[in-house]
Amino acid sequence: MTYTKIVVPSEGQRITVREGKLNVPDNPILLWIEGDGIGPDIMTASKRIWDAAVAAVYGGQRKISWMEIYAGEKAAGLFGGDYFPAESLNAIREFQVGIKGPLTTPIGGGFRSLNVTLRIDLDLYACVRPVKWFPGVPSPLRRPDQVDVVIYRENTEDVYAGVEYKAGSPEAMKVERFLKDEMGAKFFANSGIGIKPISEFGSKRLVRKAFVYALEHGRRSVTFMHKGNIQKYTEGAFMQWGYEVARQEYGDVTITEQQLWDEFGGVQPAGKLLVKDRIADIMFQQMLLRPSEYDVIATPNLNGDYLSDAVAAEVGGVGIAPGANIGDTMAIFEATHGTAPKYANQDKVNPGSLLLSGVMMLDYIGWGEAARAVEAAFTRTVADKIVTYDFARQMEGAHEARTSEFATAVIARL
Ligand code: NAD
Repeated sequence: MTYTKIVVPSEGQRITVREGKLNVPDNPILLWIEGDGIGPDIMTASKRIWDAAVAAVYGGQRKISWMEIYAGEKAAGLFGGDYFPAESLNAIREFQVGIKGPLTTPIGGGFRSLNVTLRIDLDLYACVRPVKWFPGVPSPLRRPDQVDVVIYRENTEDVYAGVEYKAGSPEAMKVERFLKDEMGAKFFANSGIGIKPISEFGSKRLVRKAFVYALEHGRRSVTFMHKGNIQKYTEGAFMQWGYEVARQEYGDVTITEQQLWDEFGGVQPAGKLLVKDRIADIMFQQMLLRPSEYDVIATPNLNGDYLSDAVAAEVGGVGIAPGANIGDTMAIFEATHGTAPKYANQDKVNPGSLLLSGVMMLDYIGWGEAARAVEAAFTRTVADKIVTYDFARQMEGAHEARTSEFATAVIARL
């Protein structure tokens, strides 16, 4: 592949894919998108920490070769107004793994969100959000230590498929006529109409990823969160397809709640993953009142969107919630918050979300030792009450650090 603005680093090797698995060299090329607004501040700080951790843990045996690709305002400046140039998408296809700062979505007709473009065009069908509490982080819960979940949100279907018609438009009228005249549907005239496709293929591949993760990481349960009591053939089907995957593909290592009580007296046997389901509305209550009962959660797109932010708020908010968009092998890790333009270039905000997304990336490429080192140093820094303004204002006796000072403090604790 040739690139016009992107420079492929001369040292470093490509991550390759063999039989559906990543093959990661010791000097892999990893992609980064700086991001808009606070992106440069948090990306600079986080890259310093990841590089320092890799150097500390592997002593020169392993090293990341960073390759910058462009999206958002920086891309628009370089590529004549193009916010997501084709060569950036091609680079992700070629190099497979990268991390991005937050991107501005210009508001205005016809502009597709850059994040949606990324997810749909590259088929990054799993949005993965691990949410857990770090000691000392301000939380509205009495027992935030009980929150430790990984949310697998389907990323390509549901109401995000973009099948929606404006009230009164010829398209909406046509769909309305069809639904009423041919299908016997009843609803008010001149409604806006949205269609929610949820497929067996899309649901099963997402659920499969959640199972693989849960089994590889010794998690205790996978919960399907759905609104199947109302939306039987979309949300309800998601749940049924989920149970099908459990039964047909992981039958020997999973049990259902029914089996738990009927066959095991309510005591989960060692080596078996518990599979359960919860209706979406009760899930929000459960995550506030009984978070320790949940572990890996698999859910359709819109539920996952709401739940990820709500659960993140229980343990410190978007400033430290990490995330990733993952396909069969390609993966883009990301800060889950936006560009917070009023804080841009002030060296002020919390780099935690991006930093911990980088921890996920290190795990993804199999560099778990470096991932644990970053996580441990981050935990110690927060426990020592060296934090950015967003935490400092909620913590007694905290030392408020700039973004760059926070990074230096984390590196000192590696
Ligand atoms: P935002 O997340 O940018 O900011 C909301 C508020 O959250 C900020 O004012 C700040 O108080 C706080 N905040 C966010 N990140 C923080 C951090 N790292 N440390 C401390 N505090 C932090 O949300 P918004 O204002 O709704 O959106 C601004 C822009 O970001 C919009 O253009 C939007 O489209 C874009 N956006 C991008 C992404 C993404 O790229 N993934 C996600 C959400 C919003």
